Amino acid sequence: MPTLITVALIAAACYGLLCVCSPFGDCHRCRGFGYKLTTDRKGRPKRGKPCRRCNGHGKRVRIGRRLYNATRRARRRIV
Ligand SMILES: [Zn+2]
Repeated sequence: MPTLITVALIAAACYGLLCVCSPFGDCHRCRGFGYKLTTDRKGRPKRGKPCRRCNGHGKRVRIGRRLYNATRRARRRIV
């Protein structure tokens, strides 16, 4: 059982490091394209509407980074 906790701690540390090094990840909905892929009448892929989730940027703030930003903002408000 201690090994499971160790693995979880290592995974959390790696995710935290990832959030520090690269706070932005690819948008899940458009997979980083920034727009939706649709097909034209011949079945070829075509550029669709801009992604509404990431406003066409193709990037999103990681959940861990968002948590870090929220705690930092809250701490700054208290002090
Ligand atoms: Zn998107």
